[in-house]
Amino acid sequence: MKALIKERAEPGFVLRDVPIPAIRDNEVLIRVRAAGVCGTDVHIHEWDPWAAGRCRPPFTVGHEFSGVVEQVGALVQDVKSGDRVTAEGHIVCGRCHLCRTGNSHVCPNTRIIGVDRDGCFAEYIAMPATNVWHLDDSVPFEIGGIHDPMGNAFHTALHDTEIPGKTVLVTGCGPIGIFAVGICVAAGASRVIASDVNATRLALARQMGAHHAVRPEELSVVVDQATDGLGVDVVLEMSGVPSAVHQAFAEVRDGGRVQMLGIPSRPMEIDLATELIFKGITVYGVIGRRMYDTWIQMTQFLRSGKFDPTPVITHRFPLADFAEAMHVIKSGEAGKVVFLIS
Ligand code: NAD
Ligand code: ZN
Repeated sequence: MKALIKERAEPGFVLRDVPIPAIRDNEVLIRVRAAGVCGTDVHIHEWDPWAAGRCRPPFTVGHEFSGVVEQVGALVQDVKSGDRVTAEGHIVCGRCHLCRTGNSHVCPNTRIIGVDRDGCFAEYIAMPATNVWHLDDSVPFEIGGIHDPMGNAFHTALHDTEIPGKTVLVTGCGPIGIFAVGICVAAGASRVIASDVNATRLALARQMGAHHAVRPEELSVVVDQATDGLGVDVVLEMSGVPSAVHQAFAEVRDGGRVQMLGIPSRPMEIDLATELIFKGITVYGVIGRRMYDTWIQMTQFLRSGKFDPTPVITHRFPLADFAEAMHVIKSGEAGKVVFLIS
């Protein structure tokens, strides 16, 4: 089969013919149809310090995908050949303290496909059956292929927040921020305000239903007007940019909530007293998707018909055009970029 490989500890990928993976008794073999490309893949492509510290080449890249089950292991019962599926890409141990208390999204033994083991930018992938998630017939493969980042957005927007009727600020309109805008609109937020420095992405946020989509320097005036000077009830921080993190704390109302998904590239300073403690706010750190509450919410929102992520996908490429895909993501002119594999 064809697979996009990180072959050596240096920048670049290569498209190679490799054997179709063998499956264990608890695994299924999936023929990949669509696969989302993520910032993480760009880090691995460029071989930045994070990638160099974390990844051990050679391995197949990619962690967001959908496809059709081709073969199932001897112990697998509720997944069968021909099923249309996607999968949770974080493979957890199921036995540690965190897994056993419903917190496997922070399992310390997590192994991520396309990072710690072979991933999905290939014609086939082997996955533990426990990680497989069935897709409704109405969900196209390209939407199935972006459930991972969409799940990040659902987790951030809906975990322990109360969105109906509330005012929400989304700082950062990358693909995940734009999904979050659509989710909050569908969940009944009274006002969704989005900020970004990039005009293309602000336009996508408007397309997903943002009531206001503005540049960071316009934000404080817009929040004041939209909330009668109170500040927003909930902020979803989805940029990882320090100035936006400070804005998140500044624009949330006293007693409000800040959900933090964006990952700053280096340590940053926060004035805990004034930005957090004296405001009495609650801060939640988001990692991955909750297993499997987030997946259930995502499926149900898609079924509702009130949330359609299709406009977020702006580019589709065959696997062979991986260099172009990396380029488009780095340009900032894309929403979600997807490989159509088979
Ligand atoms: P992304 O990194 O492209 O999105 C970031 C967006 O922030 C960009 O559109 C950028 O223009 C915008 N931005 C830059 N400066 C800004 C500012 N001052 N104010 C507002 N916006 C600003 O793409 P993404 O894939 O949507 O990821 C969003 C963030 O979430 C990244 O930091 C990523 O590393 C992180 N992430 C976290 C998890 C997790 O599990 N915690 C998972 C995936 C991604
Ligand atoms: Zn565990």
